[in-house]
Amino acid sequence: MGKEIRTAKRSVPEGHFIRCPQCKATVFKKDAESRFNVCPECSHHFYLPARDRIHQLLDADSFEEWFADLRPRDPLQFSDRVLYSERLQAEQKKTGMPDAAVVGRGYIRGRPVVLGITDFAFMAGSMGSVVGEKLTRATEEATRMLLPLILVSGSGGGARMQEGILSLMQMAKVSAALARFDQAGGLYVSVLTNPTMGGVAASFALQGDLTVAEPGALIGFAGKRTIKNTVRLELPEGFQTSEFLFQHGFIDRIIHRKDLRTEIARIIDNCER
Ligand SMILES: [Zn+2]
Repeated sequence: MGKEIRTAKRSVPEGHFIRCPQCKATVFKKDAESRFNVCPECSHHFYLPARDRIHQLLDADSFEEWFADLRPRDPLQFSDRVLYSERLQAEQKKTGMPDAAVVGRGYIRGRPVVLGITDFAFMAGSMGSVVGEKLTRATEEATRMLLPLILVSGSGGGARMQEGILSLMQMAKVSAALARFDQAGGLYVSVLTNPTMGGVAASFALQGDLTVAEPGALIGFAGKRTIKNTVRLELPEGFQTSEFLFQHGFIDRIIHRKDLRTEIARIIDNCER
């Protein structure tokens, strides 16, 4: 459980409640938190920060973070509404993270794994050079140590346009590392959470040996409006959801957040050579 959530609980009374975007119920924040940050009324999966994800997935205190010293740069001195360098500082302050990815080693019910997570809170979880580099190094470490690799995606932004080509090349870089991991016989389980879009979906998130998703996650490449304007066709209802993609064979399983830890452990056992 994140520090900021606990702090929020102690503060103003409104902080005690959250409104579920799916069933519109007003739910006790504490009730949702005690259910893995899932709506107690309708099982809507709320956003989960990377730190809480680690806590939920891994055995207590088993996480050893890697490459925590990597920091983003601004080689293009990019500016949209604000300077990229200023945006980075604001995001770092807001999230307490240097960039959108956390990687490292830990244990899932006693099984050693390499874990990587992209966190939506930091610039929509978009993949810049730090995210790409961390995931690539994590994959290379998993290859070297021959450990299962678990990557949890929560990226609505895809590639981070503020880093231009340096961001786009991460897609190829991570993919190449994953291909070498695959050739070495490694097991890669990709866990898709809400949302997994753009260059993240177009690279590592959809290259798993097994691709599982949380219920109701938005998963796709381009947004609905963009596709509609391009192909000029009516698109099926909910075509970018976990459920639709599961029905059409694009993902292997939908797993409720409360079961992820057990099910990933089971997948590892079933795939052990
Ligand atoms: Zn709900």
